[in-house]
Amino acid sequence: MDTIEFRKRGKEMVDYIADYLEQIEKRQVYPDVEPGYLRPLIPDSAPEDPESFEDILQDVERVIMPGVTHWHSPRFFAYFPTASSFPALLADMLSGGIGCMGFSWASSPACTELETVMLDWLGKMINLPPQFLSGKDGEGGGVIQSTASEATLVALLAARTKAIHRVQSENSELTQGDILSRLVAYTSDQAHFSVEKAGLIAGVRIKEVPTDDKFAVRGSALRRVLDQDKAAGLIPFFFCATLGTTTCCSFDRLLELGPICNAENMWMHIDAAYAGSSFICPEFRYLLNGVEFADSFNFNPHKWLLVNFDCSTMWVKKRTDLTCAFKIDPVYLKHDHQESGLITDYRHWQIPLGRRFRSLKMWFVFRMYGVKGLQEYIRKHIKLAHEFKNLVLQDDRFEVCADVVLGLVCFRLKGTNELNEALLKSINEARKIHLVPCRLRGKFVLRFSICSRTVESAHVQFAWKHIVQLASELLKAQRQQQ
Ligand SMILES: *Cc1c(COP(=O)(O)O)cnc(C)c1O
Repeated sequence: MDTIEFRKRGKEMVDYIADYLEQIEKRQVYPDVEPGYLRPLIPDSAPEDPESFEDILQDVERVIMPGVTHWHSPRFFAYFPTASSFPALLADMLSGGIGCMGFSWASSPACTELETVMLDWLGKMINLPPQFLSGKDGEGGGVIQSTASEATLVALLAARTKAIHRVQSENSELTQGDILSRLVAYTSDQAHFSVEKAGLIAGVRIKEVPTDDKFAVRGSALRRVLDQDKAAGLIPFFFCATLGTTTCCSFDRLLELGPICNAENMWMHIDAAYAGSSFICPEFRYLLNGVEFADSFNFNPHKWLLVNFDCSTMWVKKRTDLTCAFKIDPVYLKHDHQESGLITDYRHWQIPLGRRFRSLKMWFVFRMYGVKGLQEYIRKHIKLAHEFKNLVLQDDRFEVCADVVLGLVCFRLKGTNELNEALLKSINEARKIHLVPCRLRGKFVLRFSICSRTVESAHVQFAWKHIVQLASELLKAQRQQQ
């Protein structure tokens, strides 16, 4: 493909995407395919001779689309949202066009500098304490990681290094191995599984702290396990708090937990993957109170802030906590400007070397929506969640299972887990909307998550009517069996 054809095909591709998104509601939100559906639809090996763009685009409809779950359909209410907006799509295209690697300042100065400034912009939008911002010469700062899972791992690894150094400086006879075997990290029993996975990768044990009746970790609960573990000779070094748990969007009590972590020399990391975007609204910023006690904070603009995947923003109070843990400087990556205030080499802040120019997506989205436009977007989703919650509350066959704070409603039919499993199955088999479940204290619960950029009240009303109809049929069949 030469530039003449690229100009033509590029415009066609934009049209294809615009058509896809404009008419997405006509497609069935969840595909009908069985595992292994795709292999027979394409050849066994790559073509020897070049093929045409038309043929490929036709195969997108024939091969790909039948197996796509349409995450941006306004009938998609599963998981949490994944962000999509036109400014971000265009910026992503530009990022691909520039195609630079931003692992050091010198490897592409604009890539590093825009990212640093965008993380400051976003930090100010959520009113992060200034220690987390980079400014011109701050000790803190932000970085884009690919995912919240990676941010948690990076925080855990940095905290591990810091803890080993600290304990060794106090007890020089202890080896790294001795210390590692005694380190212990903590998180909520509602935390995302990525925290446990980070523990597996880092080779440190992770303990779950039990949550209260609001599914939140309280200071007293952490205090109890810390006292027990310290008495047993263990070294607590890390706590991962969750703001907006994946199961039911509950919030750990930072204001109780933070002072304990600080007093115990424990690194506090905050995972606000989904909820973080809501903190741009002053009325939801209180949910972040206590962040001042944290060492690192992370959320995913790629979930709820209209910046397409991947864009997981992470801030630290002390950039040296990361750079000391991950810095290895081979000669071929050395450059004249050393890391300091203005100069950042983001390769020391992350696990991979390579990194894309992802901050362009933030820059385009923030400028084209404005803070006000983004706030409006968040508020609309939260309003729709409350609309759904009120519909559930009006039908006394159903119950709401957790406080509705943001865009997620956890609900179920009053009755057995089997009944609710059957309800979810009939919802997802009908393919008109898509939901996923969770378990709360042994109860099988349906999650209704406001996801799509284009979802409106009419879609929420339609979804509820549909759910009620399926539930009524199920209850009727159950009565007839008895
Ligand atoms: C979605 C989610 C994650 C995982 O996000 P990735 O960016 O896909 O790793 C982690 N924690 C919470 C609370 C989440 O909701």
